[in-house]
Amino acid sequence: MILDAVSRWLEREVRPHVKKLDQADEYPESMVEQMKELGLFGATIPEQYGGLGLNATTYAKVIGKIASVWMSLTGVINSHLIMSACVQRIGTDAQKEKFLAKFASGEIRGGLALTEPDAGTDLQAIRTSAKKDGDSYVINGTKMWITNGIHGSCFALLVKTDSTIEPRHKGMSMFLVEKGPGFEASRKLKKLGYNGVDSAELVFDNFRVSGDNLLGGEEGKGLQTALSGLELGRINIAARGCGLAEAALMDSLRYAQQRETMGKPIAQHQAIQLKLGEMSTRVRAAKLLTYDAAKIYDSGQRCDMEAGMAKYFASEAAVTNSMEAMRIHGGNSYSKEYNVERYFRDAPLMCIGEGTNEIQLMIIAKQMLERHPV
Ligand SMILES: Cc1cc2nc3c(=O)[nH]c(=O)nc-3n(C[C@H](O)[C@H](O)[C@H](O)COP(=O)(O)OP(=O)(O)OC[C@H]3O[C@@H](n4cnc5c(N)ncnc54)[C@H](O)[C@@H]3O)c2cc1C
Repeated sequence: MILDAVSRWLEREVRPHVKKLDQADEYPESMVEQMKELGLFGATIPEQYGGLGLNATTYAKVIGKIASVWMSLTGVINSHLIMSACVQRIGTDAQKEKFLAKFASGEIRGGLALTEPDAGTDLQAIRTSAKKDGDSYVINGTKMWITNGIHGSCFALLVKTDSTIEPRHKGMSMFLVEKGPGFEASRKLKKLGYNGVDSAELVFDNFRVSGDNLLGGEEGKGLQTALSGLELGRINIAARGCGLAEAALMDSLRYAQQRETMGKPIAQHQAIQLKLGEMSTRVRAAKLLTYDAAKIYDSGQRCDMEAGMAKYFASEAAVTNSMEAMRIHGGNSYSKEYNVERYFRDAPLMCIGEGTNEIQLMIIAKQMLERHPV
């Protein structure tokens, strides 16, 4: 039912407006309101808090569908849901009661703030600090590339509560922070693609937050919380990759049957057929890997290797298929009249976000070596 509702909404309310919003890099206000009505801000939040309580498999299908029409919209909900997942996983009962229903309805929206100007992959090198002062903490530092940074109001923020302790992760904690004096989005970042959704720099200047907002009520759980959200996050990125790779394929199948050279549709030239064959296989393989990882996740088993494989393969499939779609569309691929130039700009982000593909390959190799020792 949810997939049907999302498909109808995409065709009626999203597809006709994507080109304009993408090219103007304009925030999709009305679509965000419609996503609230569809319940998407609560997609993976339990029903007891008013969410849809979807499992990872259904969620991946929803995300794939949305990404096949406009990938940017998936960022608006996914970063928000990773923030919610942090609360669901380690939040105290009081934190769950205070935030989850408002997250599910979309009344409070936000995201996850981990990355800093000098620390992305190496999260233990972050410098944003939270110093205890009575019943509250004072936060100073800068976060970079934060999705929903301008239009969101609440973020799961990774900080150092102790920068001297070893191992370093023991000094890392996570807070739920809502914008107020001392916490602002200082600028919207200009990007190659992923337009419409805002990516921002967040600055904390002696920002005071209540100790009640320390997630889990205990210092030292921050990195673990951030990393544990990544399995679902990677399945989400894999699903976005599937959606983009499929969109590039479907546009190419259509174009190749309409465009003629040498007296026949280009789809009848073997060179184009080889591309279509490879593109189709990539889409199918990416989907199977993604649904496989989601199924393992839903069964409650560890799936970092499978999620890594799905994320790696599906994101590379999106990059390759968007490039192949460009070649099939010839000169028209370079035109803003067609969608393929957008796929080509949006796809590389999937190789970077939620852990770069280089890191995914290292995770996969590490697991394989552990499973097959000599
Ligand atoms: C549009 C966009 C939206 C984003 N949204 C968010 C968000 O909402 N929240 C958030 O917190 N972050 C967000 N990010 C940040 C993103 O998660 C980071 O950019 C990503 O984790 C990579 O970190 P980095 O840019 O610091 O690259 P680096 O860590 O500097 O990596 C550079 C290169 O070195 C490689 N590398 C690094 N370490 C190793 C290693 N140990 N072994 C092998 N290779 C290595 C990497 O694979 C990469 O190829 C976003 C980024 C973008 C571009």
